[in-house]
Amino acid sequence: MALRAEIISVGTELLLGEIVDTNAVFLSQELAALGIELYHRTTVGDNARRLQEVITTALARADLVITIGGLGPTADDLTKETVAAVLGLPLVLDRPSLARIEAYFARIGRPMTENNYKQALIPEGGEALPNRNGTAPGVSVRKEGKWVVCLPGPPRELRPMFHDYVRPQLAAASRGVIRSRVLRLCGIGESALVETIADLLANQTNPTLAPLATEGEVRLRITAAAATVAAADAAIAELEQKLRFRLGPAIYGVDDDTLEAIVVGLLQQRGETLAVAESCTGGLLANRITDVPGASAVFERGVVAYSNRAKTELLGVPAPVIQRAGAVSSEVATLMARGIRERTESDWGIGITGIAGPGGGTAEKPVGLVYFALAGPGTNLVREARFAGDRQQIKRRTTQAVLDLFRRTLQSLDGKMLSKTDA
Ligand code: AMP
Ligand code: MG
Repeated sequence: MALRAEIISVGTELLLGEIVDTNAVFLSQELAALGIELYHRTTVGDNARRLQEVITTALARADLVITIGGLGPTADDLTKETVAAVLGLPLVLDRPSLARIEAYFARIGRPMTENNYKQALIPEGGEALPNRNGTAPGVSVRKEGKWVVCLPGPPRELRPMFHDYVRPQLAAASRGVIRSRVLRLCGIGESALVETIADLLANQTNPTLAPLATEGEVRLRITAAAATVAAADAAIAELEQKLRFRLGPAIYGVDDDTLEAIVVGLLQQRGETLAVAESCTGGLLANRITDVPGASAVFERGVVAYSNRAKTELLGVPAPVIQRAGAVSSEVATLMARGIRERTESDWGIGITGIAGPGGGTAEKPVGLVYFALAGPGTNLVREARFAGDRQQIKRRTTQAVLDLFRRTLQSLDGKMLSKTDA
């Protein structure tokens, strides 16, 4: 059976939102990597009664309780006292800790005050965990199958203490690892996704599968617990294969992949170049592409053709077409893509035009209406889309949709090439 843990963050400043609980995030990640189950994380203020309550509750649910903070010398630092009270243990002086605290004050040349002695007290039978970067030692104490670890609040004290003294003990006590892998999808909504894989999402225990919708894409996190890394990875691979069979081209990458990196990679493989002409996205597409290291091998240029005049002068979109169809139209997007492709002699051209809002919309052409076109060897595609959100979101979602259309087009060309060579 895996070790089950809870984390209790202690400090009124956390409840007031004055500081962010980075320690709990750090510990959560460490516990996951160790294969330790974590079902609850609690935050409580510097109040003895409420602290006692949450420690008691946590000890009833978990084998291991890790507290953060409240180990300082002042009156509102109550953690050790409360842990001792809940466990029914007296606080006793830990001589090595006292010696370390005395040495610390000697080193900084300041007198030690009475309440610093308090920091050398630990629950009887517990182990004091030395603090490299401060005075308060941590505590590890076990009683009747329960295990409590108290760590100091300052991250630069907590992290090394965890690393040096706690992690090795936890690794020995826990059996197994937790591994996860994120599949990244584009061009499929969260609800459609959930329908497609409803049976895989139902009744799952190990591996688990969690969908998460973010800006213009959906992520699927697969998490497996097992005795070894190899066994966890094998379980993940098996579920991933099922998901790929169902979702096919909607999956564009894994873990830290980005759409722009996938697109740049595909162009590099093909030895082809791209130029983009953007209106409503104002250069965001070019920006995303040039964020990818190595983009210079495939990215020829980007122009922001914002005004009608720019579309005509820089891309050769005839003024009468803009007059007749409107700047936001499939005709203009198509001519922008062709214009930038031909004028730069690139293999691929992209044109984007739309209404990012909040003003400028009409009943016929509402805010969020976007046309984007792709021109390339044997390829002339144009799409109409309506995006919700504010100006930034519409720009971001537009570039996401454009990159996804381009990615799918390049992949299907590669697929055709593959099947030809296969045959
Ligand atoms: P304490 O040990 O409770 O006196 O906390 C000392 C200091 O550590 C606080 O003033 C914070 O700056 C920091 N701290 C306490 N708890 C946390 C936490 N959960 N995450 C990040 N920093 C913390
Ligand atoms: Mg505190």
